[in-house]
Amino acid sequence: MPELRYNVITRDWVIIATERAKRPDQFKRTVPRKAMPVHDPKCPFCPGNEKMTPSATYMVPMDGAWRVRVTPNKFAAVSREGERKRTVQGIKRTITGVGIHEVIVETPEHNRTTALLSDSDAETLIETYLNRFKAASDDPRVEQVTIFKNHGEAAGTSLEHPHSQLIATPVITTQLRDRLFSALDHFDEYGECIFCRVLDQELKEQIRIILETEHFVSYIPFADLTPFSLLIMPRRHMACFNEMNDAEAADLARILRRILLKLYRGLGDPDYNYVVRTAPTENMGVKYYHWYVSVIPRLTRMAGFEMGSGMFINVSLPEENASFLREMSVE
Ligand SMILES: [Zn+2]
Ligand SMILES: [Zn+2]
Repeated sequence: MPELRYNVITRDWVIIATERAKRPDQFKRTVPRKAMPVHDPKCPFCPGNEKMTPSATYMVPMDGAWRVRVTPNKFAAVSREGERKRTVQGIKRTITGVGIHEVIVETPEHNRTTALLSDSDAETLIETYLNRFKAASDDPRVEQVTIFKNHGEAAGTSLEHPHSQLIATPVITTQLRDRLFSALDHFDEYGECIFCRVLDQELKEQIRIILETEHFVSYIPFADLTPFSLLIMPRRHMACFNEMNDAEAADLARILRRILLKLYRGLGDPDYNYVVRTAPTENMGVKYYHWYVSVIPRLTRMAGFEMGSGMFINVSLPEENASFLREMSVE
């Protein structure tokens, strides 16, 4: 019989389709990606083509060139210029679309996918995320900063050159607001962080753990919404991404790269998104919220039932998928 599972963090119910569950290796990409050159003369993110994008807001230099380059998104979702103005007219509420939308070019090499970065390149990337997160959070017009990556067409990108993005918005989204409220509710009722509680339980059970490092734990949630969606959670309680110290940032680089490499090898370089889910900086230090990274391989499509009900059907078993990735060697 299928099993409905409840995610105590997101408060989502999911149907785990136990009877028609696929084996982990059945999710592996069957069509190989096309081979890509180290440098593509037409790519706006390749070195030498900097004039094709707005001037850099941040850069990590390397041998007279750059190692990581951040530029405003040429097709920005929000405008860097202007004032935040809120209006209410009858049932219409609006806010001027101000904010920050940046592209973080992760490497000068066109074909160096994030999973294949070196540890030190991955560290530079995390340091860049922290720098840009802080800079965006300091803008008084900004309420929420989201750092994310789209890899592959199913994940929403057509530009192959490895890059991440940052969008800072003048409002807090409903999803984050709901999570902050429900985490606060849990804290009020039980005097504990719900995320710490879940992490503790996962560490005791071990069966959904993929990888543990000194400062982080990666696991597949018990009520996973889609196959192989996984979390990377700091062991130390921290509400906000920029509360990380240097040792933790370096360790995040290591575990993120290893997790991406496990997916790359185990599932044949799948399309995926990842996103840093953090409290806004104004909530720094709060005891009830706990930041983490979600990695979401895009192996299935959202269909009518998911769109209409908000409930997902997961055609795989979180425990089997975790064991599959745990055993995938990355050394
Ligand atoms: Zn390129
Ligand atoms: Zn916590």
